[in-house]
Amino acid sequence: MNAHDGMYIGGEWRPAAGADTIAVVNPSDEQVIALVPAGTIEDVDAAVRAARAAFPAWAATPPAERAARLAALRDVLVARKDEIAGTVTAELGSPLKFSQAVHVGAPIAVAGSYADLAASYAFEEKIGNSTVYLEPVGVVGAITPWNYPLHQIVAKVAPALAAGCTVVLKPAEDTPLTAQLFAEAVHEAGVPAGVFNLVTGLGPVAGQALAEHEGVDLVSFTGSTAVGRQIGATAGAAVKRVALELGGKSANVILPSADLAKAVNVGVANVMSNSGQTCSAWTRMLVHDSQYDEAVALAADAAGKYGERIGPVVNAKQRERVVGYIEKGVGEGARLVAGGPEAPREQGYFVSPTVFADVEPDMAIAQEEIFGPVLSIIRYADEADALRIANGTVYGLAGAVWAGDEAEAVAFARRLDTGQVDINGGRFNPLAPFGGYKQSGVGRELGPHGLSEYLQTKSLQF
Ligand code: NAD
Repeated sequence: MNAHDGMYIGGEWRPAAGADTIAVVNPSDEQVIALVPAGTIEDVDAAVRAARAAFPAWAATPPAERAARLAALRDVLVARKDEIAGTVTAELGSPLKFSQAVHVGAPIAVAGSYADLAASYAFEEKIGNSTVYLEPVGVVGAITPWNYPLHQIVAKVAPALAAGCTVVLKPAEDTPLTAQLFAEAVHEAGVPAGVFNLVTGLGPVAGQALAEHEGVDLVSFTGSTAVGRQIGATAGAAVKRVALELGGKSANVILPSADLAKAVNVGVANVMSNSGQTCSAWTRMLVHDSQYDEAVALAADAAGKYGERIGPVVNAKQRERVVGYIEKGVGEGARLVAGGPEAPREQGYFVSPTVFADVEPDMAIAQEEIFGPVLSIIRYADEADALRIANGTVYGLAGAVWAGDEAEAVAFARRLDTGQVDINGGRFNPLAPFGGYKQSGVGRELGPHGLSEYLQTKSLQF
């Protein structure tokens, strides 16, 4: 595949400072499809300098003009959607239809939402004898994962640009080609030089250099809790703003009054889509004792249908990790009712859609983020038990509640320690705040709440 051999800095593709490269591998057939440069501290420094230099003018640009650039960016993403979807499929492995509908569809919606918000947001308000200005924080260091390669980028860059911030992006090692296409789109959209910059590279080298750079005012990170904790500590020591979107182990709570078949089928689809590599996936299904056996049979049946449709996981290491958890589940005494640790194909990093029954709430497969197509079905005795199990992990990113009566589901959802809950299969809303309670993170992305992450307030008294 086509790949740039340099970094996008200051509005142009510049040669990388070092000679090292990162091989991009297609997880469906394990073939190397491109090489991209592995950025160094020098590349990061050049990118941060470019972002700093561009900041005053971009911050002073009228919101209507920033909105126009974001609308243009959305239009370029629309015009190039097939090329982007093909690239996501090549480097992430997701089925092409899913890449088109979700991996490209969602970021187009999010870019459009920030074009609208930049134009309509109140960047100034009156409070008594004060005028409060909401001003851009400055230079943003954005570090993104591979699981939704374009969405994770747009969910950071679009609100940052809408706010008047400038950005240096360090995308995930596994999916740099989508990030390069995004940089091309920003360029085509007429965003001024230096407002957006891209440095590809390894997390512990380029990512760490970006998080530690004193020219960065805010670090926005999505990825694992382990790295998030480290970035939070670095930012804290420098008294720097930080937003962390980390892992999850969300509960799908099916109350006895719910439409069981619908709740189970939607729940299985939620876990299997994107091969289980979704931080907000409902990987724990909580079912009442009286409906448990029926739910397990329905889930096993539903998972079986994903066998041919599911894509691979992103890389060999991830497959090893997921298979390791499946083996651990078996070892802990959970009952396999679909899938298992055996590789379903000879080539590619595929994992069988797997369902465990008889999962106890304290087992590793019920506590830790697996990030693969693995569902754990847990039994509860009554509502209090369900609530205790649902809230009984260190995470709190998302979840679902199903009940015959919407008010009953809402009452339960209000008691969940989590940032997002879908009621009876509620649809994704690109304007709703997305982010975690507890160790799932700090801060919110998307919509007006996501925009406010990139703003700081100044009050003038009269
Ligand atoms: P990761 O946290 O290692 O990587 C995420 C990003 O951080 C990448 O761009 C990476 O290069 C960068 N990074 C890594 N080390 C860094 C460092 N020391 N300093 C600065 N940046 C650094 O996550 P991963 O390897 O992509 O996946 C590992 C696990 O993370 C997954 O199995 C999953 O549990 C979790 N994950 C969560 C999400 C989410 O959206 N919450 C997304 C992807 C992965």
